[in-house]
Amino acid sequence: MQTLQSFFCGSFPPQEKAARYRLRLQCWAMKPFMAAAIVCLGTLALAQAPASQPASPKTTYLRCGSLYDGKSDAARKNITVRATGEKIDSISEAAPAAGADVIDLSREVCVPGLIDTHTHVLLQGDITAADYDVQLLKESTAYRTILATVSARRALGYGFTTIRDLETEGAGYADVDLRKAISAGVIPGPRMKVAGRAMDVTGAYPLLGYSWELKVPKGVQEVDGADGGRKAVREQISNGVDWIKVYVDRSYFVRPDGVLDDVPTFTPDELRAIVDEAHRERHNVAAHAAALNGVHNAVEAGVNSIEHGMYISDADLQTMVAKDIYYVPTLFVGEYVAQGRAAEGAHVWVDMIKIHEDTFRRALKAGVKIAFGTDVGGFDWKIDPAKEFAIMVKYGMTPAQALHAANMSAATLLGMQDQIGSIEPGKFADIVAVPSDPMQDIQQLEKVDFVMKGGTVYRGQGSAGMQ
Ligand SMILES: [Zn+2]
Repeated sequence: MQTLQSFFCGSFPPQEKAARYRLRLQCWAMKPFMAAAIVCLGTLALAQAPASQPASPKTTYLRCGSLYDGKSDAARKNITVRATGEKIDSISEAAPAAGADVIDLSREVCVPGLIDTHTHVLLQGDITAADYDVQLLKESTAYRTILATVSARRALGYGFTTIRDLETEGAGYADVDLRKAISAGVIPGPRMKVAGRAMDVTGAYPLLGYSWELKVPKGVQEVDGADGGRKAVREQISNGVDWIKVYVDRSYFVRPDGVLDDVPTFTPDELRAIVDEAHRERHNVAAHAAALNGVHNAVEAGVNSIEHGMYISDADLQTMVAKDIYYVPTLFVGEYVAQGRAAEGAHVWVDMIKIHEDTFRRALKAGVKIAFGTDVGGFDWKIDPAKEFAIMVKYGMTPAQALHAANMSAATLLGMQDQIGSIEPGKFADIVAVPSDPMQDIQQLEKVDFVMKGGTVYRGQGSAGMQ
């Protein structure tokens, strides 16, 4: 059929309107030639016949023993969640009808898919500077991207159905391609928001310390001046990033009064230009801001999230509340890397753990919005980033607050509050399950044994094979 159609009427996909129009024109031109016209009309009839109907979306029922829906802190017992296609379409106490496609989670606790708002899929652990440098010097972007596909798969297996990946650390815009491959269903992974290359000023970000005669790769795009900042924002957005990431401080030291001080990178003028340009283009800004001056400059410039925030003054916490700036504390990575970095002589990392805890407690008390984020990639992806939850609880959050940080709070920071973050009709069917109640034992969230993302099961009963 394709051959005949090509010969007489051109080889256009029959379902396309434009092709049908061209078919009509060509057929009109051939009117005098009856034999040809008969064939052509036959072809045209086929072209205008309704295309074969796509298979109706699959309906799956999850029977959850308990369910936290992400809106209420109370568990609901014996709940049936119905997912059709990618979305949740009903939640009820009624048992599924006989013969329905049911996944039995009656001995499990269901919670909304977890969201990690600070990851690095292109990085595979960098406790020491050498760990970092070797990835940029000895591994090609292609090789690092292959490793990143494994990290993305691990993230989903841990129950993180959405991540905000906050820069590729020298791997260009490979995160944009990963996001594309995941959303096209080429590889399994969480839905992604990405930040591309990130920005810092000249001379402030690794690789550093090599001979001045060598040109070594950098973990960021080096950007200077207000105009340079605006240009970099435009360039990064044109290359497909969702978020702009800036590094606003470095060279940390603890003052005698216990304040964590720093050397700020961008000037206030540069930061304001970057934030203004990003916001003008409807994109948000995440600031790596660990200490006194960096945090202050970032909140004054109006960034959307403070990443790490090991020390934040009380005045800046108040500004964060007033300007609705989120705090993404990344507590676990600090504890994890401190020992390795202290062994290298950087004892400040050990002192910073105490300062970080104090800041977290003050932020909680001040009512700053806190979103779950881990900096995984800074530590090995073989470690479950859900370890962050236990530290958030150890530092003063209730288990419900900690879970909320990885559900609706994180979803809202990502601007996806209408799509993810809770188990509600109309939202993506992103649901994970754990063996026992995480409100009694927050470390249950390190034991995710069932993962559904967008109505597809990736782990546990009904899984298509990814374990
Ligand atoms: Zn990071």
